[in-house]
Amino acid sequence: MFKIRNYINGELKAPISGNYIDNYEPAKAEVYSLIPRSDEADLAKAVEAAEAAFPIWSRTPREVRSEYLLKISQRIEERLDELAKAESRDNGKPLTLATNVDIPRAAKNFRFFSSAIVHYESQSHYMEEGAINYTLRSPIGIAACISPWNLPLYLFSWKIAPAIAAGNCVIAKPSEITPMTAYLLSEICVEVGLPAGVLNILHGYGHEIGNAMISHKSIPMISFTGGTATGRQIASIAAPQFKKMSLELGGKNAALIFDDCDYDRMLKTTVRSAFANQGQICLCSSRILVQKGIYDKFKKDFVEGVKALKVGDPNSKDTNQGALVSKPHFEKVLSYIELAKEEGGKILTGGKAKDLSSEGLNGWFIEPTIIEGLDQNCRTNQEEIFGPVVSIQAFDTEEEGLRLANSTDYGLASVVWTENLSRAQRLAESLHSGICWINCWLVRDLRTPFGGVKQSGLGREGGFEVLDFFTEPKNVCIQYPREY
Ligand code: NDP
Repeated sequence: MFKIRNYINGELKAPISGNYIDNYEPAKAEVYSLIPRSDEADLAKAVEAAEAAFPIWSRTPREVRSEYLLKISQRIEERLDELAKAESRDNGKPLTLATNVDIPRAAKNFRFFSSAIVHYESQSHYMEEGAINYTLRSPIGIAACISPWNLPLYLFSWKIAPAIAAGNCVIAKPSEITPMTAYLLSEICVEVGLPAGVLNILHGYGHEIGNAMISHKSIPMISFTGGTATGRQIASIAAPQFKKMSLELGGKNAALIFDDCDYDRMLKTTVRSAFANQGQICLCSSRILVQKGIYDKFKKDFVEGVKALKVGDPNSKDTNQGALVSKPHFEKVLSYIELAKEEGGKILTGGKAKDLSSEGLNGWFIEPTIIEGLDQNCRTNQEEIFGPVVSIQAFDTEEEGLRLANSTDYGLASVVWTENLSRAQRLAESLHSGICWINCWLVRDLRTPFGGVKQSGLGREGGFEVLDFFTEPKNVCIQYPREY
């Protein structure tokens, strides 16, 4: 069986312990490769390599660093089909999604930071009494980059690319549930000759190698994307050591739909914003709030649109919904559907696992599910399910819609559908979320800040702000005596 290897000091290496973890194909519920179960011994080698590389990499001209990032981006584009197939097989998502969204975006992340680093500026301030202050921004050292399974290469590259562009060395860990594209990225780094030690990729369990990484005294900064509970645990270890942290965490996002919206566009986009990637995108709308005037029509059309989504083989071109990523996650999502029923929810469509065994697919499929009749304060509407399960509810006034939308501890993203410009602006200001989409979803210029408020995270970062995160600012002040 194929064995994934770690990437340490420029080489692909087996874990020192020789221990491996099973890697499952979610559509088939079968083990198809093995993942290194890395531990402190592998981490020690990665830290040694990164420490050795840092003095040279941090002083390598930014144009040269930029060239490496561009080459990685180009290689991702050249190997797009292979990467997309690997990601779809590893994650269960439709191949079309991996081909059209995930992998192109990973290439774009490297390309974006390849360009951003050469245009990155720091500030200078002149004082009339004869002094100039300037901000010197320097790379920090070794960054730990830890990412989740839902958008594996896309989120992994959003961390690694800015960290190395800024002159840091990186030790990165993908989710052990979806390691394959991170492995292929390490092959690409070997192919383009990225200097040894600049990027090191360790595979394994979060509570083992992930925990060792964030606790390590030689790693002063952590960029983490994942669940809020894990983020809290990481912060409890890293904060007392005053490590720099960026935490992109969970969400329970609301879509607010008003009577006056552009109905057809709204409907099409809302089916997507609720169920793209089987609802396993942190930005998916899981609470759909609809104004009374169009609620009944929306309910009928939304149910119809969702019933038309084809749950099936991720490899088929006409599949809209693939498998959920793992058995524990599949069971968790089903348990929330049961909970929703106990909480008084009525299932409008879906509500159960989808059996595709007749097609040779014994994996973890769930029918896209819409639930009505739940109170906003119940657990189904308060806790992140992170699957193909959404609730719908009617509201009357703008104030009521806003109150319902803001009624969770999360604050990642929101969507507003209205043709009333003043209302859209008011809501954009008042919704508790780091991102607010008006009449669209998942449209993003990489230069804008990204991230959440409340329990959805710390450190909202857009293109140049990510470079700020991965550099240390120092204020230098030069005064010159006035002789005339
Ligand atoms: P987890 O928090 O379970 O895991 C995220 C990563 O952290 C994985 O690589 C995991 O490894 C690792 N990890 C787990 N425990 C530790 C630890 N103690 N120390 C260090 N690392 C650890 O999240 P999921 O992978 O389940 O991803 C889904 C979550 O991610 C959802 O809550 C979703 O909302 C959130 N997310 C947020 C985004 C945002 O931008 N705000 C974007 C995408 C997802 P392992 O897998 O081996 O356990």
